[in-house]
Amino acid sequence: VPGRHRHRRSLIPALVAFAAIVALAGGGFVAARSLGHGHVAARESPSPGQASPATPKAPASPTPHASTSTGPTPATVPQPRIVQRPIPFPPERRAEMRAYVKRHYGIDTIHLDPHVIVLHFTAGTSFQSAWNTFAANQPDLGELPGTCTHFIVDTDGTIYQLVPLSLMCRHTVGLNYTAFGIEDVGQSDQEVLGNPPQLHATLGLILWLMQGFGIQLRNVIGHNESLTSPYHKELYAPWRCQTHSDWNHADMEIVRADLARMARRYHLPLGPPATPVNPNC
Ligand SMILES: [Zn+2]
Repeated sequence: VPGRHRHRRSLIPALVAFAAIVALAGGGFVAARSLGHGHVAARESPSPGQASPATPKAPASPTPHASTSTGPTPATVPQPRIVQRPIPFPPERRAEMRAYVKRHYGIDTIHLDPHVIVLHFTAGTSFQSAWNTFAANQPDLGELPGTCTHFIVDTDGTIYQLVPLSLMCRHTVGLNYTAFGIEDVGQSDQEVLGNPPQLHATLGLILWLMQGFGIQLRNVIGHNESLTSPYHKELYAPWRCQTHSDWNHADMEIVRADLARMARRYHLPLGPPATPVNPNC
């Protein structure tokens, strides 16, 4: 019968097309599952009936796969042990800091909104001598307040905190309005890199600050990298190219590579790679 014949012929392409859709859906699911995104594929597949037996299996298989590749990881970076050794910061020093911040950044607050971590070394041999320097509040570059840092990491790995994390502190020209300062006791980058307890403590402290304040890896810099920070800002022209030699780019690349490895364990977003710019100098 011509009518029946035509009807049967028109069914074949439809069946072929249906089979192709099923095959494509299945293939796509397998490919996605092998990448560890089976739960995504299961949610995306519209499940026209025969996808339903595969759907419940999807979350089961990628989950153990994902956990074996990363291991049992804590979501939170452990807070390092921090010894409080506050330096005097009386109202006069706060007033000096407020005037400094207004003069150099045009901002009328000393409350720190941190986006950058700057690493330094003390160029001395002891925690106490460094603490004395920062406590003394002596003029630096002819201006008050004196230099300062949020943390000092001693050669044995002990971490000392000198000022509250909510307070701007004068350690890096161009960045004091938005940067934490960390000083390693020592005479060179290499000395700190070659001291495992001190390096380990420094990295743990940085990682904890990165997670706590959402600071990107690219903004963990050495003092010597200050001029190429996108956050660098200096209203006083004679200081626009002022920096120090502590923690140069090559040594900070070593530090950042270590941090990147550690940050992955805690699923910290690393942000884009650093793109050096030089807005002021
Ligand atoms: Zn420095």
